[in-house]
Formats: sequence, structure tokens, C-alpha cells
Amino acid sequence: MSNIRIRKVRAILTAPAGINLIVVKVETNEPELYGLGCATFAYRELAVKCMVEDYLDPLLVGRDPADIEELWQLMNNNSYWRNGPVENNAISGVDMALWDIKGKMAKMPVYDLMGGKCRQAAAVYRHASGSTLEEVEESVRKWMDQKVRHIRVQWGMYGGKASGLNTPPGSSAGSYYCPDQYVRNTVKLMEHIRTNIGDEIELLHDTHERIPAIQAVQLAKEMEKFRLFFLEDILSPEQSSWFEMVRKNCTTPIAMGELFNNPKEWDYLIANRLIDFIRVHITQIGGVTPARKLAVLCEAFGVRTAWHGPGDVSPVGHMGNVHLDLACHNFGIQEWAGINDVLHEVFPGSPELKDGYAYANDKPGWGMDLNEELAAKYPCENKVTTWTQTRLPDGSLHTP
Ligand code: MG
Repeated sequence: MSNIRIRKVRAILTAPAGINLIVVKVETNEPELYGLGCATFAYRELAVKCMVEDYLDPLLVGRDPADIEELWQLMNNNSYWRNGPVENNAISGVDMALWDIKGKMAKMPVYDLMGGKCRQAAAVYRHASGSTLEEVEESVRKWMDQKVRHIRVQWGMYGGKASGLNTPPGSSAGSYYCPDQYVRNTVKLMEHIRTNIGDEIELLHDTHERIPAIQAVQLAKEMEKFRLFFLEDILSPEQSSWFEMVRKNCTTPIAMGELFNNPKEWDYLIANRLIDFIRVHITQIGGVTPARKLAVLCEAFGVRTAWHGPGDVSPVGHMGNVHLDLACHNFGIQEWAGINDVLHEVFPGSPELKDGYAYANDKPGWGMDLNEELAAKYPCENKVTTWTQTRLPDGSLHTP
């Protein structure tokens, strides 16, 4: 046991790319020794900050940062009610920071603490979209020119681009779409891309749970002939029992889980081989400690990892994904939203992308830092979230 103790736990809010990011800094009684972790819940950033600073800091100060498993269990059980998104993101921030500290103490990158690299870099998929078939094709070709081999294609954004909707007067404002139009267009899109680009690239698609369950079964069947790498989120977590029907009807590879908070949401799907890729957002399930356990569980059942990697993950969170990708044998693919120049400046040491692969550096811990002075120049904005106010043609709300 060392004499190192946790001195302070803080949440740092910053939005260098216009998206709210939350990073936790765990400081120790050794001034140079601290860790960083991602706690990004972009739409509830003030709640996570409160959880970290008003509840976790008093719980953790004076404890040994080396005891990651003990502290994870302590945090997870401390509020009695478990597995909520605000709490899990706050726990993730601390958990990842503790892995960073352990790596710095051991003078090893985190992937070495997890058993070492089984690949040099993580293959990524990029997003291609457009408002016409030609625009999507052009976007796909741009990524292909950059040697990206896995490309997610969307005609319009989630739920497609709605046109000519007959909505009753007086309906509320929102993000309108039509599930039938979306499904028809998605089939046309895949036909277009396979006809015009061929079989050399791996195609992915995200349904974003925007269709009724039986239509999800139909879409998965229709997609079979296009040989997708995966079809994502065809069902909401609340309707995941329908995956058995999907499996009985087709062999389209299924990716699921970015909304999961609780092990009970994934264990049945994995143990019964109802999905092919686990796609959790690692901060949303409580950090790298539970994500590593989840990856090991998946390996036993032939399920691969595809950690959620959108813009509302901090570069520290992306680094956590990449270290897991390097160390887990059953890695499948890494989503890559991109880390722009400003983010690289605010977060020196962030993962780098080259020729369709994401690379970590070989410095201890996560191998990265946070320029707090610069981060403060990009304050977060706390405003009402509108994109989640998703509505069907008759004006009623649907899950986003
Ligand atoms: Mg998704």
C-alpha cells in the first residue's frame, strides 16, 4: 500500500467543438500525480458536475486511488439506487481517472495494464450522409479516398429526411420524420451504394430505433442481400425481446447498446447470441472497469465490440475506447466522429487517425492531458435539448 491518497475530485466542463464535454480530474497528495476521465453526458452536464463534486468528491477524498475495483463498487452502491445515467457518467469520470493514475504510477499505458496490445491500431468507421443518393455516394467516396474501409451510410439523418408530411394543424414543434418513407429510402440507398460502389467497402447503418418493432424485423430481412457489416439500433432497449424474431428471420449482423445503462439490458442478448456487436457508450455504463468486464463476457459468446464514439464523447473518452480496442481480442470496429484541431489543442495527446485506423500513444496512463486554461475559453451551454423531441407524422412523440 502506498501513501498516495485522493486529494480532490473535480468536474471540468468545456465545449471546444460546440458540444458539451465533461472531464473529471482526480488529484492526489502528490502534486504532479493526477488522472483524467470522461463523464460526458452532454445534455445533463450540470447534473453530472453536481454528482461528481457534491457527492463523489466527499466520498473519495483520503482514499487510495490504487483500489480501482473497490472504489468503483463503493461509488456504484453509495446512493443505494444504481445504474442511472447521471450517476454512471460521474462514476465513469472517476473510474477512468483512476486507471490513468494507475498507469502513471506503473509507467505503463492503460492497454498494457489490460494485458497489452493485440493490434497496433483500431480500425474505425466514418459517417457518410447526404440529402440525395448522389450526395451520400460522394461522401462515401471521400472516405474511401482516405483509406477508410468501413462506412456508415444514412440518407438524411436519423429517421431519414421527411418530405410531404400531412401533420394535423396545432401539432407541437419537433424533429419530424416518417418511418415508412425512411425504410423505403434506406433500401433504395443500399441498392444505390452497392450498385455504384460495389463490394469493396463494409457498409453500416444506424436505424436509431426509429421504426416500429415488426418493421425492424422486415428491415433486417431486406438488408440481408446488401451484406452489411452491421445494422444498428433497429429496436429500442424497451423492445429488445424482438431480437429473437430478427434472428429467426435473417442473418443481418446486429449492433445494439448505445443507450444501455444496466447489465440486465445486455446479458440476455449476449448469452443468447441475439446480437453481433455490443455498442455501449462506456461512460454511460460507468467507465472502463465495467466495459472491460463486458468485453470479456462478449468474447465468450462470439460477440464483438463496437464502442459508441460520437461527438458527445470527450477525447479522453475516445482514448478509453481505443485502449480497450487495442487490448480486447474480440474488438470489432470503432466508431469515429473525428477529433478536430481545437480539441487536439485543448486535449494534447488525443488519439490520432491515419488511413482508417485510430492510434493511441505509448505514454503512461491515457497518455494525454487537459489544458484547463484553454478549456475555460469554450464554456458549455445549458439549453433545452431539441433534437430529442422526435415526432411522427401525426405529431406524436417517438424515441429519439
Ligand atoms: Mg447509434
